[in-house]
Order: sequence, then C-alpha cells, then structure tokens
Amino acid sequence: MSSLSDIGTIKDIMQRHGFSFSKGLGQNFLVNPSVCPRMAEMGGANECAGVLEIGPGIGVLTAELARRAKKVVAIELDDRLIPVLGETLAEFSNVRVIHGDALKLDLAAVIRENFADCESVAVCANLPYYITSPIIMALLESRLPISSVTVMVQKEAAERICAPVGSRESGALTVAINYYAQPHMLFRVSPGSFMPPPKVTSAVIRMDILPEPKYDVGDEKLFFAMVKAGFSQRRKTIANSLTSGGFLSKEKAALALANADIAPNARIESLDMGQLATLSNSIKSISQIN
Ligand code: SAM
Repeated sequence: MSSLSDIGTIKDIMQRHGFSFSKGLGQNFLVNPSVCPRMAEMGGANECAGVLEIGPGIGVLTAELARRAKKVVAIELDDRLIPVLGETLAEFSNVRVIHGDALKLDLAAVIRENFADCESVAVCANLPYYITSPIIMALLESRLPISSVTVMVQKEAAERICAPVGSRESGALTVAINYYAQPHMLFRVSPGSFMPPPKVTSAVIRMDILPEPKYDVGDEKLFFAMVKAGFSQRRKTIANSLTSGGFLSKEKAALALANADIAPNARIESLDMGQLATLSNSIKSISQIN
C-alpha cells in the first residue's frame, strides 16, 4: 500500500469507496508524512505496549502505531470508513478496528479484552475536535489502566491544557487534567498538514497519567463542582463566583476562604492546585458542621 499520507492515494481511496469528508465528524485527515511517525514515537508505541486509537480515519496514524506497538485497537464511528480500513490496514496482523462511538463504548472493557498480554496501554489519537474535552475527560475520569494519552487538538486547547494551574491561561479543563495527569506540549501542526485544511493550527500534547493524584482532595465530586462553578465566572472574585451561581452561601464562602487562608478578593484563576484542593476540603468541612 502506498503512503496513506499521500494526497493522490487518499483521493484514489475516496473515489473507489465513494467517500466524502464529513465536517460534522471532524474529518481532517493528515497528509504531512512526518507527523504520524513522530506522534507514534512520542506517544509510547513500542513492542511491549498496546495502543488505543480514537478516530483512525483511513488509518494513516494506525499504520505507524502498528509498525511499532504490540497491538493497536482503533475505534471509528463512521461506518463508511470500516471497509476502507480493512483495505489500508490489511498488511497488519496486530490491528483490530472497532466500529463504534468512543464516547459511548465501555473503554475499560475494550482495554481488558484486547490488551491483557501488553505490559502497558497508551492512547494515541488525532481527535475529532468537536469531542476534545469530553473524550479526554472520559479517558481520565474513568481511571482506565493507561500510561499516557497523546492527542492532536486545536492549538488553543493544547495551550490551555498545558498552562500552569494558577495562570491566566488556565481553566477548569487545565485543573481537571492536572489532577489526573502531567501534560506536556509536544509539537505544533500547521493547517496545511491536513486534508481538508482546518481553519486553526493544531498541536500534539501528551498527558502522562499519575499513579495517584498529587493533591489530597477529600471529595472529588465537590472539588470538580467547585472548579466548574469558580471558572464559570473566572473574572469575578472566588467569593462572588461561588455564591452567585448558588454553589455556596455568602457566609460559607467567606468562612471557607478564611479557613483555607485564601484572600477573599482572589480570583480562581490565580490559585494553584494545592490551594484549590485546600479550598475544596475547607468547603467540605464547613458543610459537615452545618
Ligand atoms: N486519524 C486520522 C488522521 O489523522 O488522518 C483521522 C483523524 S480525523 C481528525 C477524526 C476521526 O475521528 C475521523 O475519522 C472521524 O470519523 C472519527 N470520529 C469522529 N467522531 C468519533 C467518535 N465519537 N468515535 C470514534 N471516532 C470518531
């Protein structure tokens, strides 16, 4: 099979299979031949590892993963691509394509059933951008037995995810990801590296999963609800953003902030992970008293 990043090859496949790109499914296929080998190398594909890919498209990244990893499982939603993948990945005996929605499948079961003989499991994907946040959060929150998540996302999303918690660039997603993982910016990818070219620049990031969260949060549900409420009005003081959305009464917010040694006029975006954890634990102990 000639290179799957070659525009002529892609056009030929599309013509023979009567395939046209679906904007709704975020279909921008990689045509820059240097991107997938780099992603596969930096994403932890090696002879002992299993790799889970989300959205293989016509299989350009899948093939690079299959050349390096012990086993690759690729989940593709678009039924029109299943016969295409059967053709483009025919030379690999270590690839399994699952037709399904990565947001609805039981990923823990997929990993259990497919990677029992692998030393570790990594996720590597050029994500459809319309599901960037939900898919990353689903991967992290369900505490899957995975070592890392390497994904191509919009450059702005990558910068937000990799920003230090406590900086102006950080957001609720930054905090959530830093709770479960250590994110790293790997490299940028220009719009011209895709067919059709998207309007935005992209970037590849890797999130190394922490064996345990670094911060002692007594009640994770409360912690994430507080982060969501706080960042929903990030330019207000924390006291205001937590009270105006109805998350906490004015009195409790003042007490929780004082107990956590955080200035009442601080903004949530200025707090680091340790302070956020302390504030959430402080809110928890106040609600237990009253
Ligand atoms: N990996 C290919 C590449 O790099 O050229 C294609 C990447 S393209 C940005 C995203 C792919 O994800 C498309 O093939 C699309 O059909 C698929 N997709 C979209 N939503 C999905 C979902 N919910 N579950 C699984 N695959 C999905």
